[in-house]
Amino acid sequence: GSGLPVQELRAQFPVLHQKVHGHPLAYLDNAATTQTPLAVQQAVQRFEQHDRANIHRGVHSLSQRATDAFEAARATLKRFIGAGAEHELVFTSGTTEALNLVAQGLWAAGPAKAWLRAGDRIVVSGLEHHANLVPWQHAARMSGAELAILRPDAQGRVHVDDLRALLTPRTRVLALTAGANATGERPPYEEMLAMARAAGALTVLDAAQAVGHAMPGLAQLECDFMAFSGHKMYGPMGTGALAGRRAALELLHPLRLGGDMVEWVSYESAGWAALPARLEGGTPNVAGAVGLAAAARFIDGVGRGAIDRHLHALRAQAVAGLSAIPGVTVLAPHATQASLVSFVARDVHPHDIGTLLDERGIAVRTGHHCAQPLLDHLGLGPTTRASFALYNTSEEVDRLVAAVARAIEVFQ
Ligand code: PMP
Repeated sequence: GSGLPVQELRAQFPVLHQKVHGHPLAYLDNAATTQTPLAVQQAVQRFEQHDRANIHRGVHSLSQRATDAFEAARATLKRFIGAGAEHELVFTSGTTEALNLVAQGLWAAGPAKAWLRAGDRIVVSGLEHHANLVPWQHAARMSGAELAILRPDAQGRVHVDDLRALLTPRTRVLALTAGANATGERPPYEEMLAMARAAGALTVLDAAQAVGHAMPGLAQLECDFMAFSGHKMYGPMGTGALAGRRAALELLHPLRLGGDMVEWVSYESAGWAALPARLEGGTPNVAGAVGLAAAARFIDGVGRGAIDRHLHALRAQAVAGLSAIPGVTVLAPHATQASLVSFVARDVHPHDIGTLLDERGIAVRTGHHCAQPLLDHLGLGPTTRASFALYNTSEEVDRLVAAVARAIEVFQ
């Protein structure tokens, strides 16, 4: 085993203890959404039962406690991601909102003031989830900038030399994933962020698939913006954050204008509040932030190094088992980070595989995984994806491999 007390940990996740179609649930859809431990559920419940109130403007005790809880959650998360003194963290509803906040915030101030202008270049890797591509397509259209794609090779890898060739004096943004959700590829993002930043671009890292188990601290990266989701790191759904250098966050035109993000308002105009409030207009998901901070503490309690080793072991076992099935091709078998395995089977549609697996209590995801351009580029259609969390076991991976082999026998 990998050294994690997996059975003890499983006891903290009530949802895992159920049968699906008469079989014990094997939940292998963690790249889409992980489950929450009792510690997270209890933190949310405690807030709801004792401290719930609107924040930042009340003099009464509950409002002050809610404000304190929200700001304590921010501090916990900044520590969790390894933020330095130069960094700030803005709560969002998830990675998608965080990336939209950056992409829209860089053109929304208009052609006179915005960071992105006509003739500039935006570089986006070809590995991205739609959430880190579509907002940049829109940003390019709205600003008149050009969108350049860092194209993966036939194995789905992106290369530093190819990035170097795309960087020009007009390159203003590099947007890159820390782990591709459709293939498991882990680009050399440390080096790529540093290269782009040295060339004068703002760097944007989509950490949705990495933040819960394997990443250098934010202060160790040449990263201006980093986005992540709570529901992929054992936290509540509808939570997440945009973290980044204060100086970079200052460049963003706010997306949500209204209460809480202004310093003063007249009928004619308004002056904005300082960060982070400026980018958090409206009443935030305070219970969610409290739950997300509890998830960060839970992960730190288990240990990200130990979690990452466990996930690596499960992935290696799955890659070996699935690759040995005739007709199965594993995507990015070499991948070194993202805790998932994506595969295709000759002549068998992923939907059929996923359906047969569900009949055996095994939850996987099938389809394009919101990364259709990447799968098109690789000449692949939809795939089947199994993805792992700290509560998964090697027995579950054995069941996965056996059930996939059986599905291929049945359908081929
Ligand atoms: N980026 C990556 C790499 C992802 O895996 C996901 C979720 N599948 C997202 C962005 C979007 O995250 P959310 O739906 O939580 O906003």
